[in-house]
Amino acid sequence: MPKKDYTKYLVSKPAYEVTPDFEVKGRRPAMTLMSNNLIPGANMYIETGWVFGMPDPNPHIQEHVHDYDEIVIHLGTDPDHQEDLGGEIEFMVGGQPLTINKTSAVYVPKGVKHGPLTWKKYSRPHLEFTIMIGAGSLAEADPGGHEKRKEGKKNNG
Ligand SMILES: [Zn+2]
Repeated sequence: MPKKDYTKYLVSKPAYEVTPDFEVKGRRPAMTLMSNNLIPGANMYIETGWVFGMPDPNPHIQEHVHDYDEIVIHLGTDPDHQEDLGGEIEFMVGGQPLTINKTSAVYVPKGVKHGPLTWKKYSRPHLEFTIMIGAGSLAEADPGGHEKRKEGKKNNG
């Protein structure tokens, strides 16, 4: 029996699929690290992006909703204080404000409206991750609701 080749499962070049409607100061373009585009059949969407300054516009991620459960992780980058986020974010989930000022994960069940995310403080670079299991493509995952907005704009001419 031939050995299975797992090198095809290594994603060493992220995809830059997410194109926000506008440029956001303090953020780099989001890197998609897992999707069916990168690993056919993975059926998982994982994206990450740096926050390296107070984002502007703020908020830049508005209220949106998904057909899949979403996990939103914010990760600090201070090696001596790995639980410190280096900022404070107000994340609206189901209309309720959550204060994120630590390295943390938020589970957002499918169908629950969430956003906007508003940065209240910034002191150190941090990372934002989106994980959606079962959503294989950017179109299915639509992490920040950008794609649906663009589609709406198209439909409205
Ligand atoms: Zn979302």
